[in-house]
Amino acid sequence: MGDTSIGWTDKTWNPVRGCTVVSAECENCYAMGFAARFSGEGQPYEGLARFSDKKHLPQWTGAVRFVPSMLDQPLRWRRARRIFVNSMSDLFHEKLSNEAIAAVFGVMAAAPQHTFQVLTKRPQRAIEWFSWLDWMGGLGGYVRSHRVGSGGLLPSLFDAVARTEMIQGRRTRSRNDPWASVFNAAAVIGRGPLPNVHIGVSAGTQASVDDFIPKLLQIPASIRFVSAEPLLEEVDLSKWLTRRDRVQMEAFTPEAKAVYGEGRHERDRIVRGVDWVIAGGESGHGARPCDIRWIESVAKQCADAGAPCFVKQLGANPHANIPTIVVGWRPGAPEPDTRLRLKDRAGADPSEWPEALRVQQFPRGGTV
Ligand code: SF4
Repeated sequence: MGDTSIGWTDKTWNPVRGCTVVSAECENCYAMGFAARFSGEGQPYEGLARFSDKKHLPQWTGAVRFVPSMLDQPLRWRRARRIFVNSMSDLFHEKLSNEAIAAVFGVMAAAPQHTFQVLTKRPQRAIEWFSWLDWMGGLGGYVRSHRVGSGGLLPSLFDAVARTEMIQGRRTRSRNDPWASVFNAAAVIGRGPLPNVHIGVSAGTQASVDDFIPKLLQIPASIRFVSAEPLLEEVDLSKWLTRRDRVQMEAFTPEAKAVYGEGRHERDRIVRGVDWVIAGGESGHGARPCDIRWIESVAKQCADAGAPCFVKQLGANPHANIPTIVVGWRPGAPEPDTRLRLKDRAGADPSEWPEALRVQQFPRGGTV
């Protein structure tokens, strides 16, 4: 059991706090409301969020804060866990420096026992950051080429380690020193994606699906996923899913002829796309409606492609069969009541769901 109610993860880890609204899905952002409640003097979100004067609605202030003191938290969790990175921000926020993001990746490299789940609404910034990292020679190249004292956030973390070593007269880095483990892990990494880091985009509208997923597929990641939550309309993401195609092959090579004989044969071809999909309606006060057929459609698209799907919740405002056209309806007439009344306020209890929605699968790969 983890310390979060989010069903697809075990823990949240927030080395960054604060964000800004970037798409329609952000409108009722849980993090914004939570941060506004704890934004008083001396509180963790001071200066990052507030309640608006007139309507008393939560708002981000626009400030984003990197919190180095939170960096080593996953290194202290020994048991393998799924960890949602930055539930209170976006790791690829434009205001975060490349070095700050690299420091977070350095920690993820040093904790291979965990599976880290990075969810962003800024895939373009993610592409740019990975390009920068590649230009630096990957995480390992970046760490190796930045010597102590050269500046930058990640090197400065290692500076602190080195200074400690000098003071203590140690020649080798201690295995118990968290920064030493980050340094050692990051320094040997090649250019490929970290196997324990899954990267996803939030896309609850067709516009976000069409904009974000092609960008997601340009990001190097061992598992790429989409969180269709809050799902605000029916979405078609079928063409982006990882799927197994049966393809016709000509048996023209001697080896193929030996195996398959003369002529044509069929074989499987894996088309790499989105590896995992999360779906769900919006929760919390003022939740926007979600027709459970939209969730069912996402689950079916995944099943058809053989891609794992995790239905998280039906949301706080679930509906069955919201009509797009009501025959005989006139302005002023009451609209048909399609609302589902569930005992669980977030609609997160699968025992209350129709059978077709009880799908909670995880992607293959990862460490837990
Ligand atoms: S990107 Fe995420 S954390 Fe930032 S405002 Fe949108 S929903 Fe909230």
